[in-house]
Amino acid sequence: QAMGYGRSVSRFTERKRVVKDKNVGPLVQTEMTRCIHCTRCVRFLEEIAGTSEMGGAGRGDRLEIGTCVENSIDSELSGNIIDLCPVGALTNKPFRFAARAWELTAKPSLAAHDGVGSCLYHHTRRGKILRSVPRENETTNETWLSVRDRYSHLGLYSEDRVLSPQLKENGEWKEVSWNDALGATVRILKEQIENHGPGHLNVLMSPSCPTEEYFLAQRLARKLGSNNIDHRLREQDFSDDAIRPASPAFSRKIAAIESADAVLLLGSNPGHEAPIIGHRLRKAWRNGADISVINPLDWSFNFETGPDAVVAPQYMVAELASLALAVEKCTEKSAPNRIRAVVDSAAPGDRHDVLARRLRDSGRGLVLLGHFAMSHPDAAWLRALAGYIADATDSALNVLTHGGNAVGAWLAGAVPHRGNGDAAESPAGKHAAEMMAEPGKCALIWDFEPDFDVNNPARAMASLAASEKVIAVASFATDSLREIADVILPLAPLAESEGSLHNLNGDQMNFTSAGKASGDARPGWKILRRLGHELGLTGFDQVSLAQVQSEMSEAIKSADVKLGEFELDSPSGGNDLFRIGEIPIYSVDALCRRSEALQQTVQAQSQFIGLNPADADRLGLKDGSTARVGQGGNFAELEVRVSRQVPAGGAWVRSAICATRELEQAVAPVVVEVA
Ligand code: SF4
Repeated sequence: QAMGYGRSVSRFTERKRVVKDKNVGPLVQTEMTRCIHCTRCVRFLEEIAGTSEMGGAGRGDRLEIGTCVENSIDSELSGNIIDLCPVGALTNKPFRFAARAWELTAKPSLAAHDGVGSCLYHHTRRGKILRSVPRENETTNETWLSVRDRYSHLGLYSEDRVLSPQLKENGEWKEVSWNDALGATVRILKEQIENHGPGHLNVLMSPSCPTEEYFLAQRLARKLGSNNIDHRLREQDFSDDAIRPASPAFSRKIAAIESADAVLLLGSNPGHEAPIIGHRLRKAWRNGADISVINPLDWSFNFETGPDAVVAPQYMVAELASLALAVEKCTEKSAPNRIRAVVDSAAPGDRHDVLARRLRDSGRGLVLLGHFAMSHPDAAWLRALAGYIADATDSALNVLTHGGNAVGAWLAGAVPHRGNGDAAESPAGKHAAEMMAEPGKCALIWDFEPDFDVNNPARAMASLAASEKVIAVASFATDSLREIADVILPLAPLAESEGSLHNLNGDQMNFTSAGKASGDARPGWKILRRLGHELGLTGFDQVSLAQVQSEMSEAIKSADVKLGEFELDSPSGGNDLFRIGEIPIYSVDALCRRSEALQQTVQAQSQFIGLNPADADRLGLKDGSTARVGQGGNFAELEVRVSRQVPAGGAWVRSAICATRELEQAVAPVVVEVA
């Protein structure tokens, strides 16, 4: 304009206003001179994320947008302020200056760190993924993306990425061709089955694989004669398998959560387990829903709750039984016989009556079981009691399962007791805990790290180390994986692969590769198809993904899930100190753990033991002192945090971190003493 019509020199003579940049953490970079004070970031964090972490200080031309006393921004949804800042005052810190916008290609993909199936675009340059931004989908993530889904791709190119097939020979690893690696794998599988029988083949899979991988893996195991296949690595109670539904898809869909009017959260911190579910619950609360919790930790939420019960894990069944009895009284619907004895011995108080009436009177009640409830040693009791409470009060029961595709795993038959027409005749399959408790002869471990991603890492590692042969199909290989494995096949992670996920709505969501496959990594369905073919098994002659998907859909459609009968043993309970083995939000899988930016956040600071003041006093431990924490003869030394967030009888010792991977079950008795 100036060139064409006017002066070439600006008439603006005042000094330019300069604002010092603020350090708001490892994820968002500020360039505050650009800020136009529109307050979109402030309003997002206050209204949508519910954390009020930003605000304006000063007045007039001295106004500056920033955080309170130079804090970092820690909300699990905070990355969205980058997208909604209109002037680029807030930018993506790890990506900054990595590429110019016109060099990038947007490739649609999905996130698999939780079951929501959030839609996103990976921005790639010459096949390398450099940035992730949200892709709108009103049934799942709307226009938002959680921090975990936005920054986890940074782990893709970490140093221990498996780039080629590898074989261990005389204790030494050597890189080989795919033909040699598959040849060795086939030889191992044939020899092991010939020598020990098919019942000694164990197949353990991550709960976040594409559904096609579950479908072909369970077919492979079962055609070889083994029903030992499972994806429920973080669960420890499988006693009600006979009556678990065909899949854990939500009965109240993700988008419908925000119209719930009464919610009971059971063993769940939804904002960390699945941030988008936490966001939908906040919307429900803003719409007037009453939310209550029965939790093992006093987690802080971005919505108000009450009446609440924060009790140590060993008392959770009794707490829920009290609510069940209050529900029985106010609805006059009898509790089933299998939970009768525990319900009769309960002693409900006022808060149980309030909650029971609230759920009964609600038109759109919701009971939500979270990750902690699913990892509990009495998870079958929690499911049975929660199921009765939901039934009697006409509420929906949603189960928030671990991993990104538990629904797909169940539907495709990656559980020992249901085979979608592929079931081997005998013997009956072993579930994940049984497979990890005793060493089998041969194990196929698929896309997880046994010292981080299981309920009992110490036992899993010992049992795999004692197995004769371990075949690992993995995207990343740590030294501990190299110690136990005999073959490592490079698996393309979701961003470089193709297939589908079944999200918590039960919807099949297809994805294609966004980034170029690194090294010789291959999509899992191709590895399994080729393995099945080389083993001479039927059902492995597909030539395309579409063919696998059509067989898979047919099998899922015609699956005839028969529910059986089961009896519950007495709940374990006890008065020992119980470990509350919460999984940190940014440690849920191998990819997140390798994202440096995520590991620099406040939420990743996990090397501590949290104790209630009464327990700390009794044990002679003080805030900041060091405690020795033991399980199964293994010990870890951790700094003590005395906190009222932890209920009496509980020890908050996180799982899936280096400091505690020598320990055993995430939710179980634990010994704590002065170091
Ligand atoms: Fe400033 Fe950007 Fe925040 Fe608007 S969104 S107030 S421009 S930092």
